[in-house]
Parts: sequence; structure tokens; C-alpha cells
Amino acid sequence: MKRILTFALALLLTLSLFAQGSKKPVIGISSGWGEGSSTQAPLTYVESVIRAGGVPMVIPLTQDPDLLAAMLDRVDAVIMTGGEDIDPLKWYGEQPVNEMGSIVPQRDSFDIALIRMAVGRNMPLLGICRGHQLLNVAFGGTLYQDIPSQVKGSTVKHNQKAPRYYGTHTINIEKGSLLYQQIGLEQVAVNSFHHQAVKDVAPGFKATAHSVDGVIEAIEKEGSNRIYSVQFHPEGFTASNIDTFIGIFKHLIKEANAYRAENK
Ligand code: MN
Repeated sequence: MKRILTFALALLLTLSLFAQGSKKPVIGISSGWGEGSSTQAPLTYVESVIRAGGVPMVIPLTQDPDLLAAMLDRVDAVIMTGGEDIDPLKWYGEQPVNEMGSIVPQRDSFDIALIRMAVGRNMPLLGICRGHQLLNVAFGGTLYQDIPSQVKGSTVKHNQKAPRYYGTHTINIEKGSLLYQQIGLEQVAVNSFHHQAVKDVAPGFKATAHSVDGVIEAIEKEGSNRIYSVQFHPEGFTASNIDTFIGIFKHLIKEANAYRAENK
């Protein structure tokens, strides 16, 4: 009898652990684009989601809105990843400057559709680098196409050669902002791998962190605690087991759980 009881207890424990495991929220990671490959995302994003307690799933590029909707039905939050420059003419009505980098039109349209659909559902969304710039552009904001030639008086190097887990310039964070709540610091050194930046912040959004030359390094949707983005690469730290920025991902996981509970 005692043995049966022990067995039943062990079974119950195993089942409850299994159920707990399946409760982890699924975090969709926007795919990059490569010749002949629709699905690719740097492992640093994948590892950051895992370390923060989520299940990573890469969302492949598609231009089909019904398919995109069906894919979003299966995730609880999304991360918009870094990458190429955004076509200025198509998405914010500016002629390209000479210093503009490479653009990928099919990735632009996929990313913008994904962002608008996710935000329309009030699904938690974290934008990183290109994803941060896209979030701004998707809701009517504009960009500097090239910081060195367009941001007057910029004295900070935003395209570092140091490793991705290493912060090279300071940002000042608004107290009370989501980013401040997530990492608990008003000032921190971040990595920097960009030459574009948010210029005019989209209506309904606010800038919450700046580098010392005034470049916007974080925005969030006003009145929301689940739509936010950063110019730097927190996953570069988190994937190297440096926990300064892991709160950015843990917050997304928390909101993803809330989103899933609301949409059951
Ligand atoms: Mn920077």
C-alpha cells in the first residue's frame, strides 16, 4: 500500500512538472531574410528567450496576411529582431541619403505587417535595433537614415567594434519608464551596432532613453506596459550570461503569460 502511494505521488509530481513546463509562453521571433532561406534568427535571441523562461519560435517571412494571422494565433508575444536599414521612401516618405545601407523590401513589408497585427491584438512586443526603428515607423514615426551625417553634434560612436556583450556608450533612462522598471537603472552602458536611429517619435509613443548625444535609445507605447523597444542589443548580453538586461526579456515573458490568460 505504501509503495502504491509513493508511486502515485511520484506520478502526480511528474505530471504537475510536465504541466508546468507546458505553461511556458511561446515567444515568436521575427525571421531575417537570406537568399534561399526564409527562416533565420541569430541564436542570441533564441537563447535570451530560453534564459528568461519562454519557448522560442522563429516566425518565417510571409506576405500572406491570413497566414501571418494564423502564425500569430500560436504565439503569446513577439520579438522583432535586428537587421538591415528600412526603406525610407516607402515607409516614411524620404529620399534615400548617400549613406543609407542595404534594404530588403520583402522583410520591411513582413515586419511592418507583423508589428501592426501584433499591436492591434495588444500582444506583447519587444523591438530590438531594426525592430525598434520599425515599431516607430509602423505607427507614423521617422528615422535618421545615417547618424554620422544627419545628427548634428553627434559625438558618440554608435557602431562599435567591441564584442556584443560589451557596453561602449552610456544611456540615460527616464525614471518610471518600462525600461527603468525592467533593469532598475537610470544610467547604464549599452552596446551599439546601428547607424540609423529614431528621429520623430510616432504619435502615441514616447522616448524613454537617450545616449548623451541625444540619440533615442528606447521607446514605449503610451498607456501600455507591453509594447516597447530598444536601440541597443540586450540579447548580446543575456546570451552571454550577463544579466544586466535580462529584465527586458523577463517582462516580456510575464506579459506573454497575461496575454495568454486573457485570450484563452
Ligand atoms: Mn547607440
